[in-house]
Order: sequence, then structure tokens, then C-alpha cells
Amino acid sequence: MLGLMQDVPLLVSSLIRHADRHHGDVEIVSRRVEGDIHRYTYRELHVRAKQLANALDALGISMSDRVATLAWNGYRHMELYYAVAGKGAVLHTINPRLTPEQIAWIANHAEDGCLFFDLTFLPIVEKVAPQLTRVKTFVALTDRAHMPAASTIPGLKCYEELLAAQDDEYVWPEFDEKVASSLCYTSGTTGNPKGVLYSHRSTLLHTFAITWPDVMNLSARDTILPVVPMFHVNAWGIPYAAALSGAKLVFPGPALDGKSLHELIESEKVTMSAGVPTVWQGLLNYMDQNKLEFSTMRRTIVGGAALPPAMLRTFEERYNVAAVHAWGMTELSPLGTLCAPRAKHAELSRDALYQMKAKQGRAVFGIDMKIVDPDGCELPWDGKAFGDLMVRGPWVVSEYFHDESGDPLLPDTDGVRWFPTGDVATIDADGYMQITDRSKDVIKSGGEWISSIEIENIALSHPAVAMAACIGVKHPKWDERPLLVVVRKPGSEVSRDELLHHYESKVAKWQLPDDVAFVDAIPVGATGKMLKNKLRDQFRDYRLPTI
Ligand code: ADP
Repeated sequence: MLGLMQDVPLLVSSLIRHADRHHGDVEIVSRRVEGDIHRYTYRELHVRAKQLANALDALGISMSDRVATLAWNGYRHMELYYAVAGKGAVLHTINPRLTPEQIAWIANHAEDGCLFFDLTFLPIVEKVAPQLTRVKTFVALTDRAHMPAASTIPGLKCYEELLAAQDDEYVWPEFDEKVASSLCYTSGTTGNPKGVLYSHRSTLLHTFAITWPDVMNLSARDTILPVVPMFHVNAWGIPYAAALSGAKLVFPGPALDGKSLHELIESEKVTMSAGVPTVWQGLLNYMDQNKLEFSTMRRTIVGGAALPPAMLRTFEERYNVAAVHAWGMTELSPLGTLCAPRAKHAELSRDALYQMKAKQGRAVFGIDMKIVDPDGCELPWDGKAFGDLMVRGPWVVSEYFHDESGDPLLPDTDGVRWFPTGDVATIDADGYMQITDRSKDVIKSGGEWISSIEIENIALSHPAVAMAACIGVKHPKWDERPLLVVVRKPGSEVSRDELLHHYESKVAKWQLPDDVAFVDAIPVGATGKMLKNKLRDQFRDYRLPTI
């Protein structure tokens, strides 16, 4: 017997309709590429999203057609989020920090028929346009006054003119909630980029889940500044969850330096934010150098890479901001776990609490997770056993878009299909998961595993260290041994021996790095994460002093 409840599909358009009706006067503030600050409300966003949906109809974009963007966090990008998905097409947000070759490859693979871009990216688009075999329409996200005087892009259109020509009457269509709504490619740090095609249903379920108190804890009293880009896994779902909860949104546009971020956080009274650790490092350094404070910011979600305990302490002790550690991936929409304390943790000492908060956290309801040994047998949740992290749930990928490389899921002995994340983790008795490493980054020394993240975190707790990466270097006896690669803070001095001394009593002797290499910079990828594969190439022939 089926339940007798209304079968209303979960659609992205319901979020913008809700935001208009219930939070219509709440502001969305954007720093524009044109240089000024723009402000309007959810109600105005809805009006313009409807005009844009009409414009997309006029451009011949139909159900499930892919519409690409190369854009910063801003209100026009948000209009595309809602108009494209709302009308049943698929929003493909491309990461502009990829190389032009990668951008062209991804756009062709996705069969994007239309490309909307911020003026910043005009040179990239001019370069790749001849290779974009399917793109029929190019639109610059600006007004007539800022349109480029001359461009090699065929038939380049002006966004504001497209909208101005359209009516704001538009009825969002109802369709199956399993229809695709957006498409993101993995950044390809561990192989070729792969397309993850989200549905309206997966997006809405993820939106509900991330809003909860023990997850991002979003409410109508929040002002959110997503530093995480809208081209990086849909800004972790914040553009949707903010509309659900009625939070004010502040978009930083192209200005992601410490000064611009701090100014915007203060002037717009931002209460919460989200981003990868490398961006926070920039902001914290700037604030430290200029003796600045936060007056309204209360918490920040840090994910995409491990939150270093030293950064956690700085946020909490120096700035009174709760740094909340989260873990996820493109294949998970992206949120999988988030580290919120339980009632019993109120008793913990400060140090024990920091240790707990440095973990990646507990599974968000909807995500099932387990760790397994190389034979696929489940390992205990004791905080010690580590194994391959597997997940399943309604916002986890089931197959990649137009991909021939085979089924990404692995069935267990009961036939239940799990997604192998490629991460190695422990899970403690309370369900707090901690990433030991990416399986490709873990250092395999004489049959034992050394966590590169643990070694890096210790280096980062030294005051002279700005960035640290630990990689495995070939060793004739032990297979691999750890090499610590370090960028020193400007004006700071620390020697190899001092740094190695800093590890004393923090790790077992066999986990100590065999050497330290000082460099000017560590390569970072398009999403702000360290590129350890590049670093491994760079140090391929490195001769350790222990050989
Ligand atoms: P890519 O895999 O292409 O880098 P993603 O942004 O999807 O793109 O990255 C997901 C990966 O990032 C995870 O599998 C994990 O290795 C890493 N990651 C994400 N969040 C964290 C975190 N809080 N701590 C450690 N690693 C993390």
C-alpha cells in the first residue's frame, strides 16, 4: 500500500519561489567585476531569474541542454543557478582557474550549448572559443556600457540586454525531480576530470541536510559570505541553502584577497562563511599583519582540504570564531561529514576539544559511511583502525556523465553498492571520521602507513611555517620515506634541524620526515588545494640523506 500524500516533486525552482514569498526583502549583496557593490533582494533575484528563463527560451535552450558559466560569486551567477535549473536545463559551472585546454575539453565533453562569462574571463573565452564546437551563444555577464569594444568572439551578447528584452512573467515548469539540474567536473587532481550530474532531487535533499543545526546551522538571522566559489561544487550548496533559510548573502566577486574579504565581512556584518584552508590562511595573515578583528563573524566552515589544528586555534582563540571542519567531494554534492560537538563534549578540556574538532566529523543524515580493509571487510569504529572510506546516499554519484571507464561503485557482499572515496580514514566510537590521507598521498614506509596530513599539521604549528606538504620519496629499503616540503613565512627563519626537532614527542620516530626541503612556493590547483602529484614529480629524483 502506498502512502496517500501529495507527490510534489523536489525542484530547484521551489527554493527561489519560497525565498521570494517568505524572505522577499532579504538582501543579496555582490562585489561586482565592474568594481562597485551591487545590492538587491531575493524578490528582485526571482524577477530577474524569470526574465532570464524567458531569455534562455528565446535562445533555444531546452530541457536538459547544458548551459556553462565561467563566473565568480555574484548575483548574476545566482540568477543563472535558478533560471537554468528552474526551466529544466543543466547548469554547468566551469572552474576558470583550469588551463584553457582543460576548459575546452570539459565544455566539449559536457556538450555545452551556451556560455555565460564574467568580463575577467574574456581573454580565456577568446582563446578557447574556436575550440568550443557546440557553443552557439556566448554571453558576457555585464551591461552595455562595460561590453568590450571589440572581441573575436562571434556574436557576443550582453547579459543585461538579454534580460531587458524579456518579460518577467514565467511559470516554472513541473517535471520529474530526478531530472538533471547541474553538472560539475572533479578538478582532476588524481586523474582526468569526470562529470558529476546532480538531479533536482539530490540537490534539494542536500540543501535540507546542510541547513540543519549540527551541519551548517543556517537561519534567517545569518549573513553568509561564501568564499568557496560557485564554480567549486555549487559553492558547497550555499546558494540553495541560503534561499531555503532566508539568510542574507554576500558575494565577494573576484576580490578574494585578505583586505577585500575583511572589508566586506565587516561592512556587511557577515556572521558566517565557508572556504578552503588556503584562502583562510591569506585572510588570517592579513588580519594578523594589520591587527584587525572580526566584529560580527561567529563561525566558518572549513573543508576541501584538512583544517590544520593551528588554524583552528587561531580562529577560536585569537578571533573568537568557531572553525567548523567539514569533509566532502564533488561526487557527494559535496557534503558528507561535518564536525559538530555532542552534549558530552562540554566536559572536554580545551586541548581535547581541539583534537575532536580537527576531525572531519560525523556523517550528515542521508550519508551512510564505513571504512573497509583491502578485502572489503568493514573495520571497527574505534578511532584507530584505518581503511578505505566508502559512502552511499541520495546525493552521492551513481555514475559519471558520459564516461566509459566503468562502474564507479563497488558492491559489498550483500550486493549494496558503495562509492569508494579514495580517502583513507578512521572512525571513532562516536562516529567522528578522520581522514588519514588520500590513498594516493599516504606514505607507505616498510609496510606501515604515514599520514601526510598529520606530518603537515605538525609543521604548520611552527610559527615560521606558511605552507607545508609531505610527500613520499623512493627509498631502497623502506619503499618510500617522508619528505617535508616547506614554504617559510616572509621574514621568518627556521632550519631543517629546528623543524625536525619540533616533531619530537609528537610522532613515532619512524614517522619523522627524513628531510626538509625549503621552497618558495608549493603548487596549488584550481580549487586552492596543494598539487602533491606535481610536487612528487618535482622531487622524483630527490636523494634523501638517509640513503
Ligand atoms: P578533487 O578530488 O578533484 O580534488 P574535490 O573538491 O571533490 O575535487 O575533492 C575531494 C577530496 O578533497 C576528498 O576526497 C578529500 O581527499 C579532500 N578533502 C575534502 N575535504 C577534506 C577535509 N576536510 N580534510 C581532508 N581532506 C579533504
